[in-house]
Amino acid sequence: MNLNDLSWNEVGEYLGKRSDILLPFGSVEEHGYHLPLSTDGDIVQAICEGVSDATGILAAPVVWYGVSNTTKAYAGTTMVEPETLKAYTRDILMAMKNSGFKKVYITSGHYSNAHVDAIKQGAGESGTRTEFLDFSNIDVSDILETKPFHACEAETSLMLYLCSEKVKMEEAVDEEVELKDDQLVPTKSGVFGHPTKATKEKGKLLFERIVGELSKAI
Ligand SMILES: [Zn+2]
Repeated sequence: MNLNDLSWNEVGEYLGKRSDILLPFGSVEEHGYHLPLSTDGDIVQAICEGVSDATGILAAPVVWYGVSNTTKAYAGTTMVEPETLKAYTRDILMAMKNSGFKKVYITSGHYSNAHVDAIKQGAGESGTRTEFLDFSNIDVSDILETKPFHACEAETSLMLYLCSEKVKMEEAVDEEVELKDDQLVPTKSGVFGHPTKATKEKGKLLFERIVGELSKAI
């Protein structure tokens, strides 16, 4: 159930029964040669739809543009500054509160520190009751062979399960994650990790684990 698909009076009926909502954040950023720029938003939208189906909670549409400092040099990555995301988050949450929503569960498909901090600060300024559901912390080490990073085994598996038509596996290359002075060293392809280890089956297990854990938290 998505906020965007309802009429205003149907939203009113929902608010007569319960007053919580899920708000997902994505990014518009490169994910290697083999995945589209929509990857983070596609994944978080599907996860929120899964949680909505499991719990009955309404999901809001994805906030697409985020903070993507690490990948901004790649063509197409479209980021906003942290201050902008903070203000935008605050405004969305204040509007939800004015509509009658009393609790907003926030989650994100994109996990750079600057991005998550801006969302949390905006939430704090909104005066709306919020809880950040961080699915990057869920233990999936029994499903994956390599550590989740970016355009990696985890994200590629999820995309193969959720929207395989958007994945070009023949273009996938593995690149090691390297840090220099605490900063990520950019890779040639934009991949940080091992997407060639990705499978649809792993994606299904990841999706079910994440949806299950988030639904429990709600
Ligand atoms: Zn991603």
